[in-house]
Amino acid sequence: MPKPRTYQTEAFIIKKIKLGEADRILTLYTPHLGKIQGVARGVRRPRSKLAGHLELITHSQVSLARGRNLDTIIGSQTIDSFLPLKSDLWLTSCALYVTELINQFAAEHVENYPLFQLLLEIMRHLCQAGDKELVLRYFELHLLNQVGYRPQLQQCVSCRSPLEPVTNAFSPTDGGVLCPRCRRRRPLTYPLSVNALKVLRLLQSSNYDTVSKLKMNRELSAELAGVVSHYLEYLLDREVKSAAWLDILREQAKQTAPG
Ligand SMILES: [Zn+2]
Repeated sequence: MPKPRTYQTEAFIIKKIKLGEADRILTLYTPHLGKIQGVARGVRRPRSKLAGHLELITHSQVSLARGRNLDTIIGSQTIDSFLPLKSDLWLTSCALYVTELINQFAAEHVENYPLFQLLLEIMRHLCQAGDKELVLRYFELHLLNQVGYRPQLQQCVSCRSPLEPVTNAFSPTDGGVLCPRCRRRRPLTYPLSVNALKVLRLLQSSNYDTVSKLKMNRELSAELAGVVSHYLEYLLDREVKSAAWLDILREQAKQTAPG
């Protein structure tokens, strides 16, 4: 039986690029079709009916018509526009960082329903009060779980001995933690404090309710952000654009913070 000409799906808009005079190609993350692309005709015209329902960081119900190369978006209705994330530069940057990582790690047309759920969960947490750095670290560790790069945090990735409560090292190339002895033989590793390892383990294996009770000082927060970003950059083999942008904003916040 031939596939029907049109289909509908829930979708989260994770990327948009301009096409021609007034069109866009959108990248959508969907619950059952994985990552897909669609052309939105005329959305850059001021009176487009579709435009408001196809903004970045929007959860929508979308109808598409199959095309020879790209499918065309023929209808869209917003489910949640996540408005708080669009009215604050820092929150917008956090949300774009999340969508960029989803875009880079997700495969086209491969269903990953838990990853779709994680994406929506993270957007809701970003809208609520609380430490956004903690939300991002929680996202990163759970993303790594979902896409098959869960780092080894319980035993040394080289000699397999249990990790002692001392400063160990994180090795992106090994995908986990090295004990101090094994570290000496590895070129690219990053020191990992006892507290940072504890927090990483908690982030990796707990739900957000548990994680949200954590209190991190700035030093620990920076250490975790650094270690995880080294690992993500190694996996993606290039710098994550929005991560660099987040670093700039963090630096500005530090300079303007009182005290
Ligand atoms: Zn070892």
